[in-house]
This record gives sequence, C-alpha cells and structure tokens, in this order.
Amino acid sequence: MQRQLAESQKMDALGQLTGGIAHDFNNILMIVSGHLQTLKRSMGADPRLARAVQAIEHATDRGATLTNQLLTFSRRQQVNPERVDVSTLVRSVREVLDSGLGRDIKLELDLAPQTWPVVADVSEFETALVNLVINARDAMPMGGLVRVTAKNIQCNEPSGEFVSISVVDTGVGIAKDVVGKIFDPFFTTKPVGKGTGLGLSQVHGFVHQAGGTVTVESEIGKGTQITILLPRAGTERAQTEMHMPQITSGSG
Ligand code: ADP
Repeated sequence: MQRQLAESQKMDALGQLTGGIAHDFNNILMIVSGHLQTLKRSMGADPRLARAVQAIEHATDRGATLTNQLLTFSRRQQVNPERVDVSTLVRSVREVLDSGLGRDIKLELDLAPQTWPVVADVSEFETALVNLVINARDAMPMGGLVRVTAKNIQCNEPSGEFVSISVVDTGVGIAKDVVGKIFDPFFTTKPVGKGTGLGLSQVHGFVHQAGGTVTVESEIGKGTQITILLPRAGTERAQTEMHMPQITSGSG
C-alpha cells in the first residue's frame, strides 16, 4: 500500500513536470510555426530555402506530436467521456489506421456487428487504437498482418460485462524481461527520434480512466496480442469510473 502510494506520488510529480514543460514548449513551437508561415509566403523560389523550410516544418510537426503525447501523459488535456459504440468507432478510424501502415502490412478488422456501448473519451480511444496499430507495424519490419477485433464478453476476472478489443500482430514479439516494462512511461526499445515510450502509457491511462483493463500476450518470433477490456456502459464499474475526477494535475 505504502509502495503504491509512493509510486503514485512519483507519477503525479512526473506528470506535473512533463505537463509543465510540454505546455511551455508547445507555446514555443506555435511561435516557430507562425513565423515559418510568414517566411514561406515571402521566401521566393530558391529551392535550397524551400528544402530548409520543409525540414523545419517536419521537425516542428514531430515536436507537436511529442508535446501532445506528453500533455496526454500528464493528463493536462480535458477528457470528455461519452457513450461509444466500439465496432462503429473502430470502423470509422479504419482509414487513419490503414494510412500509417506500409504496403507489406495488411490490416484486418474482425468486429462483432453489434457491441455494447462503453463510456470513453472518443479522441483518447482513437489515439489508443492508433498507438497499438503503430506498435504492431513497427514490430513487423518484414511485413505481416495486424488484426483488430471487438466483441462482447462476460468475464470472471475482472468480473462483469465488457467489450473486448484486441490488436494482434504477427511481429517479432516481446522478450520476457521487457514485457513488464512496456506500459512504463518513457520505456522504449525504438531508436531515438522514432520511439518516445509514451504510446502504451497513453493506452494504459485511457483504459484505466474508462474503468477497464489492458493485458498483453506475446511470443518471440510469433507476435503480440494486446487486449483492452472496457466495461459495458451502465454497469457499476463503468459508472464508478465515470464519476472519478478526470483531470488529476494542473489546468494548463
Ligand atoms: P514507443 O512505441 O514510442 O516505443 P510504446 O509505449 O508504445 O512506446 O511502446 C513501448 C515498447 O513496447 C516499444 O518500444 C516496444 O519495445 C514494445 N512494444 C509495444 N508494442 C509492441 C508490439 N506489438 N510488438 C513488439 N513490441 C512492442
């Protein structure tokens, strides 16, 4: 109990620190982007300048993605829980999910025609799906299959009615000594500039907020399955979580 409390205080402090830095850094990025637009309008046709401006634009876009991830991690963004139909939501982001994949990676959806409604923040939900599918892609450098499934399940542990959403890949798998760390913020095995280690911590935060659970099963050389369980809307578990405070640190 003591350890859990210390751990949660540590995470709160880390959240406040990163949130503060990300917030200020975001403001700086907006100034850079603003001036860049002015520069673009008045720079003429010099191809060297055009390349330089493009490189700055690319870097500021990456910076914006990173600061957004940091803000989500630090929970400085407002969340708006609403009733969501999981199958419909997954179908509606199919194009976004597909667009992040290379030619050698096939995306398959296996969605029950009708799933129970859940209570979740739609944009956080979409981000979580994108994060999971991007990880699946990165685990399949030689190509492969990523399957997203959604169905209703009745569970004993955790007990209750849930909608189960799985993202399954045929990738490299996760080593046993690494699997316990993958949800830790800033843990990444990807090269600098590619991984931030914030994808799965966003997934974990989102699922926790919605009163659900997330589990991972993986086998080296075979692939990985990450499964999210979200409680059916209206059940006690979903209600309790919905009434929890949504922003835990700062107001940005
Ligand atoms: P990032 O993608 O920036 O590294 P994440 O938090 O999303 O951050 O993931 C943390 C780490 O978990 C990854 O660097 C990778 O080592 C591992 N991981 C996550 N998903 C998968 C997957 N589907 N297959 C293999 N490894 C994975």
